[in-house]
Amino acid sequence: MIIIDGSEGEGGGQVVRNSCALSLITGTPFRITNVRGGREKPGLMRQHLTAVEAACRIGGASCDGLAIGSGEIAFTPGTVVPGEYHFAVGSAGSAGLVLQTLSMPLALAGGPSRLVLEGGTHNMMAPPFDFIDRCFLPIVNRMGPRIEARLIRHGFYPRGGGRIEVDITPAPRLTPIDCLDRGAPTGVTASAVFASLPFDVADRMLATARRHLPDWPDSAFSARELPVDQGPGTILLLEASFEHATEIVSGFGKLGVSAESLAKKAAQRMTGYLASDAFAGPYLADQLLLPFALAGRGSFTTVKPSQHSRTAADIIERFTGRMCRFDQAETGVWTVRVL
Ligand code: ATP
Repeated sequence: MIIIDGSEGEGGGQVVRNSCALSLITGTPFRITNVRGGREKPGLMRQHLTAVEAACRIGGASCDGLAIGSGEIAFTPGTVVPGEYHFAVGSAGSAGLVLQTLSMPLALAGGPSRLVLEGGTHNMMAPPFDFIDRCFLPIVNRMGPRIEARLIRHGFYPRGGGRIEVDITPAPRLTPIDCLDRGAPTGVTASAVFASLPFDVADRMLATARRHLPDWPDSAFSARELPVDQGPGTILLLEASFEHATEIVSGFGKLGVSAESLAKKAAQRMTGYLASDAFAGPYLADQLLLPFALAGRGSFTTVKPSQHSRTAADIIERFTGRMCRFDQAETGVWTVRVL
């Protein structure tokens, strides 16, 4: 059994999700002490609980210590059974993070699966649906499996109620790929999505983003109002597409944070990504480590590796023995290699 101190490194929920995925794939049991010990409110929260329960369901696994607030869990994997599953995060917890837990085990399972995931689809501190769909999944799909996700209904914090459907056609193994070059730019968009909020909020986000992204054409900026019952909530999605990669930087609407300040921050982060030559932004990098490691080798370039990436690399090494190496070139761009 692998014993992990959940307060080490990033010390958050991703340690739990990655451990579940790796355990189901390698068949190795694990115990995490000090679950989310690096967070102000440590222990399992609703969304982590749902993710571990979902891992147990698809993987015939058992887990001791499953309760909200729990500081220690012991997970024993079984056999992953593909099929139709429905999971609901009983709060606005992220449905996308449940998918993060299940996608690799099911992408390597013995048959196709269909998932219905309910909860938040556009939450702070989690990949919004659009990011999963257009940044993460296209790369995993290049490695062999076919994972298609559909957004049926948006779910914002605190109300949740969103719905994602996912079809997974597995591959017997993941094919290693190298993603060093993102290729030539193919387009940019800035969309302000909002529900049950004044139009003015979207307008102000877009005006600020436009000021901070002066090279982006007017036609790139648009607002989209959702049905009132999907709100209240809003997100600004800044998207830059290249021949081989797509980056989406999000500004999540939050009570007490002005439309201008969230748009300015998002635009600055996008400017940083565009100024580098990196393939993956910081979030995509920490999410790609798992599929790249499962493929056995491969490489991608990224901006400065985050603590999430370093911690994911540590957990991956514990389960698979594979090392992820981070090297910085003189240009400042980093290359992550699975050895
Ligand atoms: P905790 O509360 O412990 O932080 P958590 O499970 O919500 O728990 P993390 O462990 O921080 O969160 O993991 C968050 C995951 O969401 C990471 O994989 C990160 O890459 C991803 N993520 C966060 N924000 C974004 C974003 N704006 N775009 C894309 N992905 C994101």
